[in-house]
Amino acid sequence: EPSQTTFKRVLLKISGEALMGDQGYGLHPPTVERIAREVQSVHQMGVEICMVIGGGNIFRGLAGSAQGMERTTADYMGMLATVMNALAMQSSLESLGVFTRVISAIRMDEVAEPYIRRRAVRHLEKKRVCIFAAGTGNPYFTTDTAATLRANEMACEAIFKGTKVDGVYDKDPVKFPDAKRYDRVSYDDCLAKHLKVMDASAIALARDNSLPIIVFSLDEPGGFRGILAGQGTYTTVH
Ligand code: UDP
Repeated sequence: EPSQTTFKRVLLKISGEALMGDQGYGLHPPTVERIAREVQSVHQMGVEICMVIGGGNIFRGLAGSAQGMERTTADYMGMLATVMNALAMQSSLESLGVFTRVISAIRMDEVAEPYIRRRAVRHLEKKRVCIFAAGTGNPYFTTDTAATLRANEMACEAIFKGTKVDGVYDKDPVKFPDAKRYDRVSYDDCLAKHLKVMDASAIALARDNSLPIIVFSLDEPGGFRGILAGQGTYTTVH
């Protein structure tokens, strides 16, 4: 098993749907635990880890507003969904003996710490996994943007975007068997070709700060650890 990495501090971004397993909705505890073990394995390499988890397995602002709900209210509901996912991940990581903090962009002091940058940095230095919840705290944003924002603020060396596929393809590899995976692709090509990596504001924010986005498969057991050790297949957006 690979044990060496050059990375010191990274941010792992996963969608809310990554936590729902084969169900169409919500949280699937064995799946949460499987991902927690991937994180634990990287934590054991001595890497400082930030996490941002989406909320799409529970609620999406756009879906709410399509059903007639006021958009900003629906977005706040989406942000609250990410807090539930963060708490589930915290619980799973701590049952594996990994110390964590859930840090919320919306104050809810009984449930999670408020976001204070210097305090979050201190947690990372003490090797606590920081799970950033409630997105950016603002409607009209996404957790991809929140991930890029926090990765910049925490001076992470890269964002690791865990997905169902092992990188960025020129077209959907599930639908098109001749789809080609990029080893490396520029931020500008992602934007110009509308490649499915992250939304445009997240990619632009990464580009403006030269923050690499590494897209890899979270379905491979040991995948996250392997990618950190430079093994396996993935795409670097640079
Ligand atoms: N959201 C928001 N501001 C943010 C982050 C998230 O308003 O900074 C809301 C938005 O409604 C979004 C929902 O939270 O639809 C869930 O986040 P996202 O769609 O990014 O989750 P994912 O697709 O990664 O599961």
